[in-house]
Amino acid sequence: MSNEIISIEEARRRVLATCRPLEPEEIALEHALGRALAEDVVAAGDVPPYAGSAMDGFAVQAGAAGRRLAIVGESRAGHPTDAAVEEGLAIRISTGAAVPEGATGVIRVEDTSEADGHVTVHEATEPGQNLRAAGEDVRAGTTVLRAGAELSPAELGVAAGAGVAALRCARQPRVAVLATGDELVSPGQPLRYGQLHDSNALTLGALASRAGAEVVVRGSVADRPAETATTLEDALTVADVVVVSGGVSVGPHDHVKPALAQLGVRESFWRVALQPGKPTWFGTREDRLVFGLPGNPVSAMVTFLLFARPALRALQGLAPLPIREPAALAHPARRQRDREQALRVRLEPSLEGLPRALTTGSQLSHILTSMLGADAIAFVPPGHGELGAGEAIEIERIR
Ligand code: AMP
Ligand code: MG
Repeated sequence: MSNEIISIEEARRRVLATCRPLEPEEIALEHALGRALAEDVVAAGDVPPYAGSAMDGFAVQAGAAGRRLAIVGESRAGHPTDAAVEEGLAIRISTGAAVPEGATGVIRVEDTSEADGHVTVHEATEPGQNLRAAGEDVRAGTTVLRAGAELSPAELGVAAGAGVAALRCARQPRVAVLATGDELVSPGQPLRYGQLHDSNALTLGALASRAGAEVVVRGSVADRPAETATTLEDALTVADVVVVSGGVSVGPHDHVKPALAQLGVRESFWRVALQPGKPTWFGTREDRLVFGLPGNPVSAMVTFLLFARPALRALQGLAPLPIREPAALAHPARRQRDREQALRVRLEPSLEGLPRALTTGSQLSHILTSMLGADAIAFVPPGHGELGAGEAIEIERIR
């Protein structure tokens, strides 16, 4: 199995085949932003709950201009009145206040003048004018949100309006991020010759948080077999998903694969026909997922976005894969004979049609600054020759 090099699509298929949404839990609305709904939400009552006024003015019976009406009460937002409107009467009303009994329209205050407890209406009032019917937004009993919906601010507001204070959402996946390498030093620490600052623990942890996961471990481990195995075992006991970077190749100091094998993590694939990111490893132990990502900082981010992010979304019950969109390549790109390339691109809108995809600079896998300002990954299919400037390619947005 280890000699097999699979396509991006096949790798994603294998990853997603292992992912079921985690068990749901009850989440208060104010903490539910970004979570995925585990069940439909049905409105308990009408929204708005009562017929109200869309304007500040007077609740009246519909009728002609020029009438002089006696003001017999006031309905304010949150303070309805018991008074009723009849022929010759008006009730002062504010925006959002309940429409008093008998009123069939509201005349705007700008279209009236007031004196001696009376109001003179200068415009005709049509039936229903400036009224909002109860249930005009949502009828009681209607399904307002569907299971699987990603909870954005609008969803939270609609849920609140529907009479709900908490929602059932799949539990957030717990993620452990481990960077391997003897050369790694924590950010801010001085470097000795041959050392470099660990960036993967940060980028991968941040990508996991962005994907809705809870990062429960973020650390690094030296290139020593025993330490690699114990650190991975600890991670497997606390996390649903372990993301380890570096050490997954076949060098004498790459201990991740043997350690995982020793811990009973079953390999699903190792190596994807992808640049950057060929030596990507994925396996499972029961319901635990393990991603062994290449250590080069760009490869680590790209393979996380392509494989780990969809898994984290699927575990939350969210649509896992971004929609592939067409774009026009702004520069020529040489194809690779046997690997699909994942270019980091900035997207520029174009009036004529497809957005233009401009590469973010050097596409080498250690040039992490090529991730700065990247809006999307553009896919150059394998083959011969090059794709010309202006040719259509597929992209996936990464923001
Ligand atoms: P590896 O996959 O362990 O062979 O690492 C490949 C390259 O990525 C090497 O040049 C490493 O120094 C670099 N690298 C590995 N891990 C990290 C990390 N956490 N942060 C920054 N660079 C890394
Ligand atoms: Mg290494």
